[in-house]
Amino acid sequence: MKNAPGKSGLIMDEPLLWEKGRKGRHGMSIPVSDVPEASLAGDLCGDGPDFPDLSEVEVVRHYTRLSQWNFGVDTGMYPLGSCTMKYNPKINEKHAAAESFTSAHPMLEDEYCQGTLRIIYELQNYLSQITGLDAVSVQPAAGAHGELAGMLIFEAYHQSKGKKRTKILMPDTAHGTNPASAALCGYKPVPIKTGERGILNVDEIRELMDEETAGIMITNPNTLGLFEENIREIAEIVHEKGGLVYGDGANMNAIMGIVNLKKCGVDVLHLNLHKTFSTPHGGGGPGAGPVCVVEELEKFLPSPRVVFDGSMYLAETDRPDSVGRMHCFHGNYGVLIKAFVYILSMGAEYLKKASQYAVLNAAYVKVKMKDHLHLAFDRPCMHEAVFSDKKQQEFKVSTLDLAKRLMDCGYHPPTIYFPLNVSGAIMIEPTETESLEELDTFIDVLRQITAEAESDPELLHSSPNRFRVKRLDETQAARNPCLCG
Ligand SMILES: *Cc1c(COP(=O)(O)O)cnc(C)c1O
Repeated sequence: MKNAPGKSGLIMDEPLLWEKGRKGRHGMSIPVSDVPEASLAGDLCGDGPDFPDLSEVEVVRHYTRLSQWNFGVDTGMYPLGSCTMKYNPKINEKHAAAESFTSAHPMLEDEYCQGTLRIIYELQNYLSQITGLDAVSVQPAAGAHGELAGMLIFEAYHQSKGKKRTKILMPDTAHGTNPASAALCGYKPVPIKTGERGILNVDEIRELMDEETAGIMITNPNTLGLFEENIREIAEIVHEKGGLVYGDGANMNAIMGIVNLKKCGVDVLHLNLHKTFSTPHGGGGPGAGPVCVVEELEKFLPSPRVVFDGSMYLAETDRPDSVGRMHCFHGNYGVLIKAFVYILSMGAEYLKKASQYAVLNAAYVKVKMKDHLHLAFDRPCMHEAVFSDKKQQEFKVSTLDLAKRLMDCGYHPPTIYFPLNVSGAIMIEPTETESLEELDTFIDVLRQITAEAESDPELLHSSPNRFRVKRLDETQAARNPCLCG
């Protein structure tokens, strides 16, 4: 295919290190011993661990080959919708790896770790400024964990008002973690259907919101990449009935420095530092999902909280109304440093620009692709655009076929079959870190694939062809993973 970055290359097979090793090989030379040899085997450590013996070149080739079986944002464009796979600047890693952080013991008394506490304190303040909310805890380890903290705060709030509530309103575009987090706290999710315009319908919320309902969980922009324009009116309805508004902030990349979520009526919000604030997460973590709240809910935030008493930064533990600890020590501290460095290196002006470019790039892909792929909602999009396989169905080509063919052409596939209310969804989030040339190549390749769907559907059905493995049985792989090669 013309222009596609994916080309046929040599992908080596690679056995396990244990299969490769040969007794007596070694990867480094150590000085000849000038003392009598003594065996550690036996009493101290049995026969010793079962490590294979390998030379340096064998180890280097092993890991280099394995790294070539992988794809990451450092390899190429990764337009995985709802995941914000932006490029992560290496300066974040450099600072997070500084020995002053990595060797700081997490149980140091506050007075001996003022620097590390100050970073948490300042990060809390920055996140508060970026979201508009009043107080932040950086403890949760991921978005879903932040949601759980948020739902515990909902519960604590309603308990403090003397009445337990049982239900929660849940838009049908919500990420699966939303209903799961609510259910973990004993709330029954009440589904709300997305309206014709791809956003929530105020009348439906008015009908469903009652005094048994703890509140609503809203993702804004939502997972269709559309801005929930009625959020303020919806928040008013929920607040009138004594409920709270939860904001899923996973899509914050579209609105940094532009939308104040407190002014939208959001009471509790989580952020995904590993998405919006540029820390690597393709491999599943570690992440960080700070939870941000309005002033009235501050007392419920997880403990400890980092505060400043005018002269010292303190990890405050004496907080009787807190929902308790969500993580050991201070959360995933390395991730916090990366986000902190990112925020400082961008500054307010460029964080806002990042959001503007994220939206511009998605709008560009949307406009350039809409004659080739069916657009779920033909409206101005935010940071991602949701298409479907409707136009390709007549050639018996599905979203999965398109995604697999894209892999052969050198791209990570977009998010597919989500959100659930769009049949055969293809959700593309290019992010702000792709250049115009990169976007043009991607669009060109995607257009060529849609042409192939018509001219050569068999090619798409048989994709991918350039990988070590073909299509996997994904259900089997998820339910019965074989991790030993
Ligand atoms: C990613 C995401 C989450 C969950 O965040 P994790 O960090 O993966 O736990 C929740 N909601 C939305 C909309 C997301 O995109």
